[in-house]
Amino acid sequence: MPHRIRAARAAQYLAVRALTVHGLAHPLTLALLAAASTAAAKAWDRGHRVDAIHTAPGQRARRAWADHAAGCGTCTTTRPGCPEGARLWERYCRLQDAYLTHLRTRSTSQ
Ligand SMILES: [Zn+2]
Repeated sequence: MPHRIRAARAAQYLAVRALTVHGLAHPLTLALLAAASTAAAKAWDRGHRVDAIHTAPGQRARRAWADHAAGCGTCTTTRPGCPEGARLWERYCRLQDAYLTHLRTRSTSQ
């Protein structure tokens, strides 16, 4: 996986976590969103496609999981604790694995 994409995805993940934990107005969230934006712009400047960072099915699955975990009294943001959470977590992990496999396959075939 190209390192700009990895950096942009990591920055985006950290920003989303801060947003979930601290809310949008928190200085840490704002700083991490700015860092994520810069990382995404650098990836774009290197010619990477936007969908390399924002994968629609994976993003929807991640959001569904995060929304559930935030409102569920049994699940945490890093571990499912109920049947519905386990289903959402499994779907999110499966889509992430498929996406990363896709990137590895693509980068070795170029
Ligand atoms: Zn749950």
